[in-house]
Amino acid sequence: MFETLSGKLGDVFERLRKRGALTESDVSEALREVRVALLEADVALPVVKTFIDGVKSRAVGQDVLRSVTPGQQVIKIVHDHLVEMLGGEAGAEDESGINLNAVPPVPVLMVGLQGSGKTTSTAKIALRLMNKERKKVLMASLDVYRPAAQEQLKILGEQNSIPVLPIVAGQMPVDIAKRALQAAKLGGYDVVMLDTAGRLHVDETLMLEVAAVRDAVQPHETLLVADSLTGQDAVNVAKSFNERVGVTGIVLTRVDGDGRGGAALSMRAVTGKPIKLIGVGEKVDALEPFHPQRIAQRILGMGDIVSLVEKAAETIEKEEAERLAARVQKGQFDLNDMASQLKQLRKMGGMSGVMNLLPGVGKVKQQMAAANVDESVLKRQEAIIGSMTKDERSNPKVIHASRKKRIAAGSGTSVQDVNKLLKQHLQMADMMKRMSKLGQKGFMRSMGA
Ligand code: GDP
Repeated sequence: MFETLSGKLGDVFERLRKRGALTESDVSEALREVRVALLEADVALPVVKTFIDGVKSRAVGQDVLRSVTPGQQVIKIVHDHLVEMLGGEAGAEDESGINLNAVPPVPVLMVGLQGSGKTTSTAKIALRLMNKERKKVLMASLDVYRPAAQEQLKILGEQNSIPVLPIVAGQMPVDIAKRALQAAKLGGYDVVMLDTAGRLHVDETLMLEVAAVRDAVQPHETLLVADSLTGQDAVNVAKSFNERVGVTGIVLTRVDGDGRGGAALSMRAVTGKPIKLIGVGEKVDALEPFHPQRIAQRILGMGDIVSLVEKAAETIEKEEAERLAARVQKGQFDLNDMASQLKQLRKMGGMSGVMNLLPGVGKVKQQMAAANVDESVLKRQEAIIGSMTKDERSNPKVIHASRKKRIAAGSGTSVQDVNKLLKQHLQMADMMKRMSKLGQKGFMRSMGA
């Protein structure tokens, strides 16, 4: 997501930055391009208009144009406005963004259209609250219409050890909701997540039912789940739900897809409600807090280093990272170490997962695609190392022609691939040596710690 937009804005700003002095018309011209880029990313028209007007009124001021780095200043203004448009830094004050400041069990109502990712998000949030905030969470499905909806939540609960309210055949949504609250009270739960039924479109029956459940349980949070791939539709759905049942926050799903980003960008401005969490994959742990500042930086091609380091810290095994750091410090880096690094990298979501968080992504990504660097390459490299003997891994110098042939055959690759890997290892080992000479404690350690 955001890649096309990021690429376009990157071009506009690169031109601005290169010029020493800027006139008012230079800025207007650049903003015209920003406007088109935002509209092409499917951002709602009124939101674009307010955004551009806001930036313009500040960017054409004398102070900015006369400054030493007018280009940079304009970019900073765009950045600040973007952060504001995405909701400012407020929504992200705590990790889940979900407000649980009430007498337990706190009811959280999940609403949205069918297929938006509501049930999956319910389980994702429950798991997050359990693991990160040590809450006791009960889930209940109020979807009595879609065949197997209740069953789906039950299975998700069983697979992830999340308690689910037992299904009682024939019971209606409001009664299920009341029963869930009662069970949560008796069971000493902190949170009850209520997964309501969705429809394919916003309709009167759906709204009435959700409103009836809301009145019965008085939810502390009502989270609207919206599919970011549906662009402006997602925003319109959020608007309707907010008007009819009142929502307290938005969960945007499929942010891992190749949506144009319009939903994420307009959601806050149109509904006035914060995006609290984003779904970034099908797995139950693919949920992240929404940080306007980080997203803005990603869109502007400044990268999202904070998320990258956090991600690394979460996925890299600490002991392994420390072992590696110790070896690097001594200037040692053999093929075992390289295999371990490749594995860690793959666990972080492979190249594409990591690349999305790096600065200047658009261009590098294109280059990588052209060079065909992807997860399959990582896997192949691991396979090559896997086909070596222990001795070869710790002492790559012994790998001569006949051994290369054997390794290539064993890993289903070519001698050329083996050579490439060995060369890459030499380069990495060399870099590690230099790092150790610099006396740095090492990047690895800071990641694992
Ligand atoms: P519901 O009808 O709103 O309850 O939707 P579901 O929770 O059943 O989700 C519909 C489909 O979308 C499922 O296959 C989910 O795995 C998938 N899904 C949900 N959230 C995400 C997400 O953030 N990213 C991706 N890639 N898929 C998702």
